Amino acid sequence: MQIPKERIISPNEIDDEYLCPICFHLLWKPVECKNCQRIFCKTCIDECLKEKLHACPLCRHYQEKRCSPMFYALLTKLKIECENKLNGCNDILSYEFIEKHQNEQCQYKMKCCRGCQKEILEKDLYQHERNCGTVRIECKRCNQVYKQKQKHEQLECLINMLDISNKKSKTLEKKIEHLDQYIHELETTVNLYIIGGFASGIVHDISLSTLPSSWEIIYDFTYGHVTTVEELRELKLRCKKQIIVGAIQGSSSTILKLAAMGPSEILLLDSPLNEPTKFGNVNWYLTPDYSFGFAPSCSVINCFCADYGEKDNSENRLSWHLSGDGGYRAGVFKDLVHDNEWRKIIMAEKQ
Ligand SMILES: [Zn+2]
Ligand SMILES: [Zn+2]
Ligand SMILES: [Zn+2]
Ligand SMILES: [Zn+2]
Ligand SMILES: [Zn+2]
Repeated sequence: MQIPKERIISPNEIDDEYLCPICFHLLWKPVECKNCQRIFCKTCIDECLKEKLHACPLCRHYQEKRCSPMFYALLTKLKIECENKLNGCNDILSYEFIEKHQNEQCQYKMKCCRGCQKEILEKDLYQHERNCGTVRIECKRCNQVYKQKQKHEQLECLINMLDISNKKSKTLEKKIEHLDQYIHELETTVNLYIIGGFASGIVHDISLSTLPSSWEIIYDFTYGHVTTVEELRELKLRCKKQIIVGAIQGSSSTILKLAAMGPSEILLLDSPLNEPTKFGNVNWYLTPDYSFGFAPSCSVINCFCADYGEKDNSENRLSWHLSGDGGYRAGVFKDLVHDNEWRKIIMAEKQ
């Protein structure tokens, strides 16, 4: 540790007795020669004595003695600039703390980057090394040493890659599971669609027992019941892809006298009056405050309130009031506003 006189605050007030006669800097960890009473830095005098034992450079008869506490107290009053002032450190330290500051605390020391070997201020070193592409790093997982800019973890680390592909295959397995289930559902629906005759559009006299067991009735009220838009919208939550809407005659009957199949989105329709949406061969409508129902896609729907059209395909029209009344029709059977024999039926696949 060497502290040139110029780094002491007010150096002109410093007597020569504060300076080491060997190195001419401020005395550091001073010891005294008992014989000539001159004070030296401990390291300076030790270096001299290596060449010749007891040869004090001033009196030739060196005998070491602790330096007096009074003198030491004078030293501790000195204020000293940090050796890294030129690098930007403006700290002024007492004699006692200068060593600790310079060795442990000063952020303006120059340090060598472990990668590019450039000298960097200690305070900037962390950031520099994080960005310095040449810093070598050992992967904690696979122990491979790599340069930081190689992006080892994302691209090279075999263990990481294994992890990633394991994760991917788990996701794929799940997807396949879902797909399997989806295909199964699709098969059931397609069977129903083709074998049940729904492919052609509106069907008549279908026995519930011919439908796959995965289908269930989710809405079953007599025509006297007042169907509301809210009821239909809520049903959507219980449906998968497709629904069947139809009518059964009689409380114990299991024959759909008239029915059609369509996507469950039908329950969410907000059709303008007499402007149905075509799915397959069927026109569907859900017009709030008017009615809900279907008719063949080739037929014009004629709702005044519900569909009272009868010129063509009268037997293929189904229409339920949404205007606060029961009814209205199941094919040619109309005016079912207070009817307790006909039933409004909606079916969906079990979830
Ligand atoms: Zn010295
Ligand atoms: Zn001496
Ligand atoms: Zn400093
Ligand atoms: Zn570097
Ligand atoms: Zn690795």
